Amino acid sequence: MSETIEVPKPGAPPESGPTPNVTDQKYCLGCGKTLHKSAPACPHCGAPQADVVPAGNKNRVVAIVLALLLGGIGGHKFYLGRVGMGILYLVFCWTFIPSIVAFVEAIIYITMSDQAFAKKYG
Ligand SMILES: [Zn+2]
Repeated sequence: MSETIEVPKPGAPPESGPTPNVTDQKYCLGCGKTLHKSAPACPHCGAPQADVVPAGNKNRVVAIVLALLLGGIGGHKFYLGRVGMGILYLVFCWTFIPSIVAFVEAIIYITMSDQAFAKKYG
């Protein structure tokens, strides 16, 4: 009678990170653990999560509306604190060129993320 050597069953494979199919979870920027994507801060380490929109002083939507409605007289430029550019738009408003430029700028603002906008104008 030979003694049977119990071979330990291989346990669960080592965790190679959180499962990727969980869509409403994200990884903590501080400790790397998973947390719900709506969490403003990590429950494990308390690190604030950076995809919270930075609080810029200038509202991107307001700039878009101003560029579309008052772009020809530089309304959005005055709003964004670019007073010199605003005056330039105002002086040349009769050429309708500022209107065209403002329309293009409105498109640019629309395609910009809030973060990029806040970084540039906030
Ligand atoms: Zn954490």
